[in-house]
Amino acid sequence: MNIGEEVLKLLKEEITEIEYTRYIKHLTYDLENSTSDLAIFYVPNILVLNWIKSRYSAKIAHLFEVKTGSRVTVEIQLKNQNQTSSIKNNETKAQENKNRVKHSLLNPSHTFENFMVGGSNQFAYAAVKSVSEKPGSTYNPLFIYGGVGLGKTHLMQAAGNVLQNQGKNVIYITLEQFLNDFTRHIRNKTMERFQEKYRQCDVLLIDDIQFLSGKDGLQEEFFHTFEALRGKGKQIIITADKPPKKIAGIEERLKSRFEWGLVADIQPPELETKIAIIERKCEINKVKLSKEIIHYIATVIDSSVREIEGILSKLHAYSQLMHVDIDLDFVKNVLKDEAKENQSNLTLDDITQHVAKNLNIKPSEIRSKGRSKNLVYARRITIYLCRELTQSTMPQLAQYFGMKDHTAISHTLKKIKDLIENDEDFKLKIAELKNSLKTSTI
Ligand code: ADP
Ligand code: MG
Repeated sequence: MNIGEEVLKLLKEEITEIEYTRYIKHLTYDLENSTSDLAIFYVPNILVLNWIKSRYSAKIAHLFEVKTGSRVTVEIQLKNQNQTSSIKNNETKAQENKNRVKHSLLNPSHTFENFMVGGSNQFAYAAVKSVSEKPGSTYNPLFIYGGVGLGKTHLMQAAGNVLQNQGKNVIYITLEQFLNDFTRHIRNKTMERFQEKYRQCDVLLIDDIQFLSGKDGLQEEFFHTFEALRGKGKQIIITADKPPKKIAGIEERLKSRFEWGLVADIQPPELETKIAIIERKCEINKVKLSKEIIHYIATVIDSSVREIEGILSKLHAYSQLMHVDIDLDFVKNVLKDEAKENQSNLTLDDITQHVAKNLNIKPSEIRSKGRSKNLVYARRITIYLCRELTQSTMPQLAQYFGMKDHTAISHTLKKIKDLIENDEDFKLKIAELKNSLKTSTI
């Protein structure tokens, strides 16, 4: 197996089977024309080409670096173009490589413009934005934490893209790559080069630092890198799946340093944010979906935003290959597995009864027009959960709750969003009820 095939094998493990068979399987690696910093792959048709270029190039580059320890630029070409690539003279090829290497590991579509902001991520967004405007001076380090697929890498790279475009030397690296690079330099006895590389950048973006846990040698090295960079006022951004305090197996002196600047969290997105993200992804990937379908997808996917891209790729693949338009039935059919996994079959009655029981009032009261404080409170929560956990439309909810029309529901949902953002107790109550509702139906 050549290196290109090995990388594709790694990629296979990271993506869904359908993505693999629809797209990645068709890639062939050009062993002859690829170099240590340029990987050329061929695809059979333009459809696959565009999708792979936008969706997988950065990932493939990343896997190359994991495997080989050096940065590569990935080039995807149509199969019949291979002659042109081999007759390119060496000079232009070298020049192109130079230009490419600079940008290789930051995904260019990870920008602030493409990042949808909502209550769940606005704090982290504001922090990263501010750091991108004044690197090294506001919050250093900036530590972002949150669950898988919630946009940590995207945000950190958005700052990286801004600063790199200003000519700053930005290094983006996952902890895993950092470890590989470290061991490679130890093996080759070239640690000075390793140190030089990381201690002389302007911005260090280090992703998924939780994997530093238990790796003492690397922690020692990272500690010195950290000190050197911070001492020179160079910006460091770190991400992890949990806050510094909760990462086990990391030296205290590192943990405390992670908290020196600012620690910001990202929470799972609310329905509105999920909808905004899907809309944006559709725009970027040129997939056309109706509002109804977007709403459906947003309710089907649970929390990770990463799933959205897999879903869009699935829809895209099916509709192109089977020559059908994407309508709601088609989407439901394609997503039936996801829907089964993530969706309880909760009805509006289930939710109303559950909330009523929890808050010690009668279900009929929740659906009444009563205006007492605790009824209004219970009604708001119920409406919100019904919207989040079922596929009811606003007019359907208005009818169920005896409200005039969908604007009344929309107004209530807006009010609840404000409460969730500003009232920690309210937010927790919603989370608790949502959780108990989901588990009670398993
Ligand atoms: P994490 O690093 O937290 O696991 P990523 O940054 O890799 O998550 O995000 C997973 C995918 O979801 C990426 O394609 C990213 O662009 C997308 N994504 C996450 N949050 C948002 C958001 N708020 N707006 C737009 N896209 C988002
Ligand atoms: Mg990430």
